[in-house]
Amino acid sequence: MKLFTACLGTETHTTAPLPTDLAAFESSHLVRGGDHGDVPHMFGAPLVIWREHAKKRGWDVVESLSAFATPSGITVRKVYEDLRDEILADLKAAMPVDGVLLSLHGAMVAEGYDDCEDDLVHRIREIVGPDIPMGAELDLHCHITRRFTNEVNAIVIYKEYPHTDSRERAEDLWKIMEATFDGTCKPAISSFDCRMIGCYHTTREPMRSFVDRMSALEGKDGVLSVSLGHGFPWGDVPAEGTRVIVVTDDNKTFGDELAEKLGRELWQMRDEITPRYVDIETAITDALAEKEGPVVIADMADNPGGGGPGDSTFIIRRMLERGIGMACVGGIWDPVATGICVGAGIGAKFQLRLGGKTGKVSGDPLDLKVEVKNVIRDAYVKSLGGSQRYLGDAVWLHAEGIDFVVHSARTQNNHPHFFEALGIDPTKLRIVVVKSMQHFHAEYSKIAKKIIYCAAPGTLEWDMTKVSHDKIARPVWPIDDDPWATNSERPW
Ligand SMILES: [Zn+2]
Repeated sequence: MKLFTACLGTETHTTAPLPTDLAAFESSHLVRGGDHGDVPHMFGAPLVIWREHAKKRGWDVVESLSAFATPSGITVRKVYEDLRDEILADLKAAMPVDGVLLSLHGAMVAEGYDDCEDDLVHRIREIVGPDIPMGAELDLHCHITRRFTNEVNAIVIYKEYPHTDSRERAEDLWKIMEATFDGTCKPAISSFDCRMIGCYHTTREPMRSFVDRMSALEGKDGVLSVSLGHGFPWGDVPAEGTRVIVVTDDNKTFGDELAEKLGRELWQMRDEITPRYVDIETAITDALAEKEGPVVIADMADNPGGGGPGDSTFIIRRMLERGIGMACVGGIWDPVATGICVGAGIGAKFQLRLGGKTGKVSGDPLDLKVEVKNVIRDAYVKSLGGSQRYLGDAVWLHAEGIDFVVHSARTQNNHPHFFEALGIDPTKLRIVVVKSMQHFHAEYSKIAKKIIYCAAPGTLEWDMTKVSHDKIARPVWPIDDDPWATNSERPW
């Protein structure tokens, strides 16, 4: 038995200001030949898990590229094609193979490719032929085309947002695919299009119970896996939208019924599961009203994990104008400012232009008298599910009562270690501003006295009726009030 594995992904915000280039992969995750190190990247970890399981069975594994870029704008065409073609060349060299396992995101868009995963699995299927089992693990912010569900044999999607369960889902997919390779299981994929877009937090009701119910349905009545692809509502492509995926052991009729039942339940909950956000003034006032800190304010609009640059200044400017101290902000992605501070060194005090550099969505830069409190070259910090994130060079700056973490590699703040690594103790402060939409919740909820989701101006507009949508297949809620007024399915 010989298996082929690969990972390729990013989450494309189709109107974000920065293109996704090769450097975005190199500074996030780009591994060849299985060299994942001691702490694998969240998207690379499934390849390590599958390799270990295969080894126990005495099966060979050919491990190709493992690559993931911090979310940004549309991927440069040549970058996608080169990475894709590297995987395809490795596969051709490895042929014949008996199975394919892929760790993908599901919302990767490149110039000329609205759905990179659809393109990739189609080309893999052309090489391996119709009979070789292929399984894919996806991030729940995925778009799933009908062709994708036809090309692969099993799909397992993260259930949790924050994504704390990528390893568990890799185990789930392995179980299904191992039985398929052994010939004791014949997976069938059912898919139901909920005709809606949105961003749903699984940390609160009623999504929490919906996720628990999906898990409880697994393992009986021939149901191998139940997933919800939330979709990525800032990725304007035809297949954008929320989908229920059910994988059964050769019982597509039952799977279709279950997928539709769950999808219609979710549709009924659409208003309740849509998060509510407050404006900057309300966020700051509410934070100050808390007797004890820290209060965590999530700057969701500038979340680098959703395509935001990570250098916007809107919230910080109001905090400075209102004279708020005992606060920390992390991070600000500013390679130029980082370089200046690294050069100046610890203890240096000088005037610095900080943040606000990428475009209008970043606001105006801040001009501050800063003190460099600490410098770490090539910094790694803890992240979700035991993984870690690369910050590049990172500095701790202090100005006007606020501590800032400023760094040179774009990434999201998912863990208090983002501050602690530099020497800042966020538990001692009143207000902690994180540039994250929801992933911060897993770890920051352990230290926060209160969490406030703030909708500042920026790249990620929360009101879906204001997000630019030209390519998305219609009808879809909330762009269309009643997408169920027609019986005809969306074309993708
Ligand atoms: Zn995601």
